[in-house]
Amino acid sequence: MSTDTATHSSTSTSTDSAAGTSPTAAAQKRVAVVGGGIVGTMAAWQLAQRGHTVTVFDQWNTPNDRGASAGESRIFRTLYKEGPEYVAFIQRSGQKWKELEAAQDTQVLEWCGGLTIGRPDHPDVTAVLECADELNLDHRVLDASAMREEFPAYGVDDDEIGVLDPNAGVFRPELAVLAARDESIRQGATYRPYTEVLHIRPFPDRIMVHTAEGSDAFDSVVLATGPWAGALSGLGDGVIRNKQLVGSWFPVRDLAVHEPARMPISIRRHPEGAFSAFPCLDGVGVKVLTHHLDWPPIDGVRDLARFVDPAFVRSTEAAVERLMPHLDPTAVRVSTWTEGFTPDGAPIVGASPVDDRIVLAVGMSGQGFKFSPMVGSVVADLVTTGSSSDALDIMDPARFTSGASS
Ligand SMILES: Cc1cc2nc3c(=O)[nH]c(=O)nc-3n(C[C@H](O)[C@H](O)[C@H](O)COP(=O)(O)OP(=O)(O)OC[C@H]3O[C@@H](n4cnc5c(N)ncnc54)[C@H](O)[C@@H]3O)c2cc1C
Repeated sequence: MSTDTATHSSTSTSTDSAAGTSPTAAAQKRVAVVGGGIVGTMAAWQLAQRGHTVTVFDQWNTPNDRGASAGESRIFRTLYKEGPEYVAFIQRSGQKWKELEAAQDTQVLEWCGGLTIGRPDHPDVTAVLECADELNLDHRVLDASAMREEFPAYGVDDDEIGVLDPNAGVFRPELAVLAARDESIRQGATYRPYTEVLHIRPFPDRIMVHTAEGSDAFDSVVLATGPWAGALSGLGDGVIRNKQLVGSWFPVRDLAVHEPARMPISIRRHPEGAFSAFPCLDGVGVKVLTHHLDWPPIDGVRDLARFVDPAFVRSTEAAVERLMPHLDPTAVRVSTWTEGFTPDGAPIVGASPVDDRIVLAVGMSGQGFKFSPMVGSVVADLVTTGSSSDALDIMDPARFTSGASS
């Protein structure tokens, strides 16, 4: 696969400025979205809402379990250890999640709250407290005995605290992709499942999207290819690297303690184990995503192994035995997924360095689910007007432009 960069033309001449306004008939564009994960479906929703003619290509169906948007649960959190610069983007995404749920009459995000648990001087604990202080965000600090009383799912040492983020919750990611897909279809988008995009070739008056079934002309292309970002993105080698993430499910001994009403999601930091934990959604187990061991790099999605080194699983079991007192510390289900990571850990959202009619929304670096609605909105702004007042500088593709291929 490659991005042919031999020709180039300038961006839209649309005069629409406000996000959410429909373009005039002349400015209405034919837009191809490559990738129907959460980022592509959200982009399709926002683009269709603005009146564009949207076609979503996916090599699988939408949703699917091959990409980064699957695995039963995902976290939404507002106290953001990655930096306060994300917070307004996240808050506005929260509003759009509610808008999507209302439009589709469904619930995909349960606001069960979120805990960051560890010693007060752990960098992730101090980061969420600094974020809360700087932006005056709702939160509560619980000492060990208050934690044991209120949230018994989590075992804590006497010198640990929990920082409660009330504006956090747990997604059901497959239902979320379905909701965004269905809302985009309701607004006019079309889906082409099982259709891999092989090449994207820009010409002065159109962009050709080539698949095994033929070629179609578009005015703009959105790349939302998740862990397959590689060659199509036009970014240099090594800008986006895939890693293998491992999640394990542990049987609940006491369901009431682990239901979302009683168990917030958590970012757990302890010398004997670091992980994120999710409340029980299936009546059987709690999912734990291991953080204290390196996530192995992999060359591409085809290299994603289901096999996990037993030492990795045993280490997670030991952490759960130590820190989750009401779970059976036996990993009864282990799954692997992959995601594209950038060198600085921030996503890439903006015009492609090789042609500004191609918009990149890739390299989500393990963060992308929660703010995918705003990524979709920024993408739709860029397609409609060529700029977005909501775009975050930290996500600007230009920071990697020196590695762009031509
Ligand atoms: C295990 C795990 C846990 C995570 N936890 C969280 C969390 O708690 N909170 C959070 O906010 N984020 C989290 N993330 C990150 C978040 O889930 C991802 O950033 C997000 O799902 C990425 O969505 P996407 O649409 O970019 O990618 P994907 O869902 O992978 O979608 C990409 C799609 O593109 C298609 N595609 C690729 N190439 C082509 C092509 N050439 N032609 C046609 N189709 C193509 C693929 O088939 C795929 O369907 C986590 C990620 C992982 C892997």
